[in-house]
Amino acid sequence: MPGDAPLTVAVIGAGIVGLCAALEVQRAGHHVLLVEPGEPGGRQAASYGNATWINPGAIMPISLPGLWRKVPGFLLDRTGPFTLRWRDLPRHAGWLARFIAAGRDWERIGICARQRYPLCKHTVTDHRAYADEAGVGHLIRQEGLVYVYPDRTAFAAESRIWAMRRELGIRFSEIEEPELRRLQPELSPAYRFGARLDDAGQIADPGAYCAALARLLEARGAQRITARATGFVIDGGRLSAVVTDRGPLACDRAVIAAGIGSAGLAKLAGDRVPLISERGYHVVIPEPGVELGAGLMPSDGQMGVVSTPQGLRLAGQVELADPDADPDWRRADILLGYARKMFPGQAKRFETARIDRWMGNRPSTPDGLPCIGIASGSADIVHAFGHAHTGLTQAPATGRLVAALIDGREPPFDPTPYSARRFAR
Ligand SMILES: Cc1cc2nc3c(=O)[nH]c(=O)nc-3n(C[C@H](O)[C@H](O)[C@H](O)COP(=O)(O)OP(=O)(O)OC[C@H]3O[C@@H](n4cnc5c(N)ncnc54)[C@H](O)[C@@H]3O)c2cc1C
Repeated sequence: MPGDAPLTVAVIGAGIVGLCAALEVQRAGHHVLLVEPGEPGGRQAASYGNATWINPGAIMPISLPGLWRKVPGFLLDRTGPFTLRWRDLPRHAGWLARFIAAGRDWERIGICARQRYPLCKHTVTDHRAYADEAGVGHLIRQEGLVYVYPDRTAFAAESRIWAMRRELGIRFSEIEEPELRRLQPELSPAYRFGARLDDAGQIADPGAYCAALARLLEARGAQRITARATGFVIDGGRLSAVVTDRGPLACDRAVIAAGIGSAGLAKLAGDRVPLISERGYHVVIPEPGVELGAGLMPSDGQMGVVSTPQGLRLAGQVELADPDADPDWRRADILLGYARKMFPGQAKRFETARIDRWMGNRPSTPDGLPCIGIASGSADIVHAFGHAHTGLTQAPATGRLVAALIDGREPPFDPTPYSARRFAR
């Protein structure tokens, strides 16, 4: 409670969600133990390789009405944005059925969008504040994000989605072809219409940003523990330690923010959460010969295309597969194909570039909402995982909610939709 003695809080996982939670818990006056076996925001984390978007308009879940009709095509089409390995189908069938059911009608989508909005709304302002405190303000870009379409008809086909954004007060501008050409002259003439989310932005280098936030935490007294959490010591519902592969860590509270590694820990804390990896890929093309202002999202490829300090990054693809299975680099090559399609004038350069390919695990629940809330097995453990496609965007608001739950303070917004208990029903 506010005003009481500071607590020792173990935050498990130093991806963007754990880091933001740790910053907010620390701001509330508590001592933080940051438990992470790798480097904060290192290549093992989804927070490293994403599309860099911080987007107040990220209100839509991925599962939308009509998806079920497309599933057979996903199984057959090796080049589409969504794929499922045949051998993984039996294991993922239950999750997939819930995923499709969650998006079965537009009324449901509207409810989900409104529940997602408080997590997204202030993302750019929040990240800017953190970045300034960490001395990396230059990593935040606020040029908006542009969805690009073959034409206005393709945009109009998504009118329901844009109408929901408008209803929530999310600003966007329509961009006709001449303006699109002026904004991004290198973009292929195959894209003739754009819609810009005016208040969205990017974190130019999310890995470097996470590393800076970890340094900020340490400078303010947090302790980094290089270890993997494996369990909890809970007695009569009260937590006394987080168990790690390096021994037990005494603490008063714990936050489970281990991305795809969270489900096992959540189970030990009393909650069974259907969490799987929607694996994603990126390619980074150094010296691409094109510099983007706003980030782009081509409607046909469904990926983020952004300029980063390392080069042009294309990040996307959804592959339902075991997190530990070998990457299928053909998925990265599909992204590369889009780089050639979008910027045909530069395609030759891309052939000889030393391309960085990366695969990471989006921690995904089937219903488009993360798990944030007090664990069923102990009121001293708080869940903060399952942000799927939008964890970079939703991390600061998640952090604020986590800190309020730990202190028993009035939460900044209603946490009920994010409770892990929804899966027990
Ligand atoms: C291709 C791609 C593009 C994306 N684009 C965007 C985007 O543009 N905008 C957006 O908002 N989101 C995007 N996302 C999603 C976003 O990256 C994730 O939702 C977010 O990074 C999840 O953060 P996290 O902290 O929960 O998990 P992670 O970043 O994966 O971090 C989890 C950390 O926990 C550690 N860990 C695991 N197990 C344990 C354990 N037992 N003990 C201790 N530590 C442990 C791991 O080592 C890791 O460092 C994208 C994702 C992908 C893959």
